[in-house]
Amino acid sequence: MKIDITDIIERDGVVKRFKMDADSHKTGGGNALVNFLGDIHIEGEISNNEGILTVTADILGQLDAKCYRCLNEIVKPFSIPMEETFEHANSSKSLDSYEYSGHILDISQAVIDSIYLNIPDRILCKSECKGLCPECGCNLNDKDCKCRKESKENKGFSALRDLFKE
Ligand SMILES: [Zn+2]
Ligand SMILES: [Zn+2]
Repeated sequence: MKIDITDIIERDGVVKRFKMDADSHKTGGGNALVNFLGDIHIEGEISNNEGILTVTADILGQLDAKCYRCLNEIVKPFSIPMEETFEHANSSKSLDSYEYSGHILDISQAVIDSIYLNIPDRILCKSECKGLCPECGCNLNDKDCKCRKESKENKGFSALRDLFKE
Protein backbone atom coordinates (compact mmCIF):
# COMPACT_ATOMS: atom_id res chain seq x y z
CA MET A 1 0.00 0.00 0.00
CA LYS A 2 2.45 2.56 -1.27
CA ILE A 3 1.67 5.96 -2.69
CA ASP A 4 4.00 8.14 -4.73
CA ILE A 5 4.03 11.52 -2.99
CA THR A 6 6.61 13.23 -5.20
CA ASP A 7 4.06 15.74 -6.47
CA ILE A 8 2.88 16.89 -3.03
CA ILE A 9 5.90 16.58 -0.81
CA GLU A 10 7.60 19.76 -2.03
CA ARG A 11 4.47 21.88 -2.08
CA ASP A 12 2.77 22.99 1.09
CA GLY A 13 -1.03 22.89 1.23
CA VAL A 14 -1.45 20.51 -1.70
CA VAL A 15 -4.07 17.76 -1.57
CA LYS A 16 -3.75 14.55 -3.57
CA ARG A 17 -6.58 12.10 -4.03
CA PHE A 18 -5.84 8.41 -4.28
CA LYS A 19 -7.51 5.03 -4.45
CA MET A 20 -6.07 1.58 -4.40
CA ASP A 21 -6.89 -2.06 -3.94
CA ALA A 22 -4.76 -4.12 -1.63
CA ASP A 23 -4.56 -7.85 -1.32
CA SER A 24 -6.20 -8.58 2.01
CA HIS A 25 -3.88 -11.53 2.59
CA LYS A 26 -1.04 -9.08 2.92
CA THR A 27 -2.66 -7.18 5.78
CA GLY A 28 -1.39 -9.72 8.26
CA GLY A 29 -4.14 -12.21 7.61
CA GLY A 30 -6.50 -11.35 10.44
CA ASN A 31 -6.70 -13.13 13.77
CA ALA A 32 -8.11 -16.55 14.51
CA LEU A 33 -11.70 -15.36 14.41
CA VAL A 34 -11.60 -12.85 11.57
CA ASN A 35 -10.33 -13.16 8.04
CA PHE A 36 -10.75 -10.90 5.08
CA LEU A 37 -12.29 -11.87 1.78
CA GLY A 38 -10.95 -10.53 -1.48
CA ASP A 39 -9.33 -7.15 -1.84
CA ILE A 40 -9.43 -4.23 0.52
CA HIS A 41 -10.28 -0.99 -1.20
CA ILE A 42 -8.84 2.25 0.13
CA GLU A 43 -9.93 5.62 -1.15
CA GLY A 44 -9.20 9.09 0.14
CA GLU A 45 -6.79 11.97 0.11
CA ILE A 46 -3.43 13.07 1.39
CA SER A 47 -2.79 16.65 2.36
CA ASN A 48 0.56 18.24 3.01
CA ASN A 49 0.68 20.71 5.87
CA GLU A 50 4.26 21.91 6.28
CA GLY A 51 5.64 18.41 5.75
CA ILE A 52 3.09 16.70 7.96
CA LEU A 53 0.96 14.47 5.78
CA THR A 54 -2.61 13.76 6.79
CA VAL A 55 -4.28 10.78 5.18
CA THR A 56 -8.08 10.74 5.30
CA ALA A 57 -9.60 7.66 3.74
CA ASP A 58 -12.31 5.04 3.77
CA ILE A 59 -11.28 1.43 4.00
CA LEU A 60 -13.79 -0.95 2.42
CA GLY A 61 -13.76 -4.70 2.44
CA GLN A 62 -15.46 -7.87 3.49
CA LEU A 63 -14.72 -9.89 6.55
CA ASP A 64 -15.30 -13.52 7.13
CA ALA A 65 -15.84 -14.34 10.78
CA LYS A 66 -17.51 -16.70 13.16
CA CYS A 67 -20.42 -15.42 15.25
CA TYR A 68 -19.26 -15.01 18.83
CA ARG A 69 -22.43 -16.63 20.17
CA CYS A 70 -23.51 -19.33 17.71
CA LEU A 71 -20.22 -19.87 15.78
CA ASN A 72 -22.00 -19.57 12.43
CA GLU A 73 -19.93 -18.27 9.54
CA ILE A 74 -20.68 -14.63 8.75
CA VAL A 75 -19.58 -12.59 5.76
CA LYS A 76 -20.01 -8.90 6.38
CA PRO A 77 -18.97 -5.85 4.42
CA PHE A 78 -17.17 -3.21 6.43
CA SER A 79 -16.43 0.45 5.88
CA ILE A 80 -13.92 2.02 8.21
CA PRO A 81 -12.96 5.68 8.28
CA MET A 82 -9.28 6.41 8.74
CA GLU A 83 -7.49 9.64 9.57
CA GLU A 84 -3.79 9.42 10.32
CA THR A 85 -0.84 11.73 10.17
CA PHE A 86 2.61 10.89 8.86
CA GLU A 87 5.70 12.83 9.79
CA HIS A 88 9.09 12.72 8.19
CA ALA A 89 11.44 10.22 9.79
CA ASN A 90 13.93 13.02 10.50
CA SER A 91 11.48 15.29 12.30
CA SER A 92 10.78 15.20 16.02
CA LYS A 93 7.79 12.99 15.59
CA SER A 94 4.78 13.10 17.87
CA LEU A 95 3.86 9.74 19.35
CA ASP A 96 0.61 9.06 17.57
CA SER A 97 1.75 9.63 14.02
CA TYR A 98 3.41 7.33 11.52
CA GLU A 99 6.67 7.86 9.67
CA TYR A 100 7.59 8.42 6.07
CA SER A 101 10.81 9.09 4.26
CA GLY A 102 11.69 9.62 0.64
CA HIS A 103 8.98 10.06 -1.96
CA ILE A 104 6.93 6.99 -1.21
CA LEU A 105 4.31 6.90 1.51
CA ASP A 106 3.59 3.43 2.83
CA ILE A 107 0.20 3.42 4.56
CA SER A 108 0.04 -0.36 5.19
CA GLN A 109 0.55 -0.22 8.93
CA ALA A 110 -1.91 2.64 9.41
CA VAL A 111 -4.55 0.77 7.40
CA ILE A 112 -4.04 -2.44 9.35
CA ASP A 113 -4.19 -0.57 12.66
CA SER A 114 -7.38 1.24 11.66
CA ILE A 115 -9.04 -2.01 10.68
CA TYR A 116 -8.17 -3.79 13.89
CA LEU A 117 -9.15 -0.83 16.05
CA ASN A 118 -12.56 -0.70 14.44
CA ILE A 119 -13.54 -4.34 14.14
CA PRO A 120 -15.31 -5.45 17.30
CA ASP A 121 -13.82 -8.40 19.19
CA ARG A 122 -17.20 -10.00 19.38
CA ILE A 123 -18.89 -10.14 16.01
CA LEU A 124 -22.47 -11.36 16.01
CA CYS A 125 -24.43 -12.82 13.07
CA LYS A 126 -27.32 -10.62 14.21
CA SER A 127 -27.75 -8.52 17.34
CA GLU A 128 -30.49 -10.80 18.68
CA CYS A 129 -28.53 -14.02 18.06
CA LYS A 130 -29.62 -16.58 20.66
CA GLY A 131 -26.36 -18.53 20.57
CA LEU A 132 -25.84 -22.18 21.36
CA CYS A 133 -27.60 -24.11 24.09
CA PRO A 134 -25.07 -24.63 26.90
CA GLU A 135 -26.59 -28.07 27.58
CA CYS A 136 -26.95 -29.79 24.20
CA GLY A 137 -25.02 -27.40 21.94
CA CYS A 138 -27.82 -26.91 19.44
CA ASN A 139 -28.16 -23.57 17.65
CA LEU A 140 -31.04 -21.83 19.42
CA ASN A 141 -31.67 -19.65 16.37
CA ASP A 142 -32.69 -22.76 14.42
CA LYS A 143 -34.54 -24.75 17.02
CA ASP A 144 -35.89 -24.58 20.50
CA CYS A 145 -34.56 -27.43 22.59
CA LYS A 146 -36.02 -28.47 25.91
CA CYS A 147 -32.84 -28.03 27.96
CA ARG A 148 -33.49 -24.51 29.09
CA LYS A 149 -36.97 -25.28 30.34
CA GLU A 150 -35.58 -28.18 32.32
CA SER A 151 -32.78 -26.15 33.81
CA LYS A 152 -35.34 -23.54 34.84
CA GLU A 153 -37.23 -26.26 36.68
CA ASN A 154 -34.03 -27.40 38.33
CA LYS A 155 -33.46 -23.89 39.52
CA GLY A 156 -36.92 -23.97 41.06
CA PHE A 157 -36.05 -27.14 42.89
CA SER A 158 -32.79 -25.82 44.22
CA ALA A 159 -34.55 -22.71 45.46
CA LEU A 160 -36.95 -25.00 47.33
CA ARG A 161 -34.03 -27.01 48.70
CA ASP A 162 -32.45 -23.79 49.93
CA LEU A 163 -35.67 -22.90 51.70
CA PHE A 164 -35.65 -26.21 53.56
CA LYS A 165 -32.05 -25.71 54.59
CA GLU A 166 -32.90 -22.68 56.70
ZN1 LIG B 1 -24.98 -16.02 15.86
ZN1 LIG C 1 -30.36 -27.73 24.47
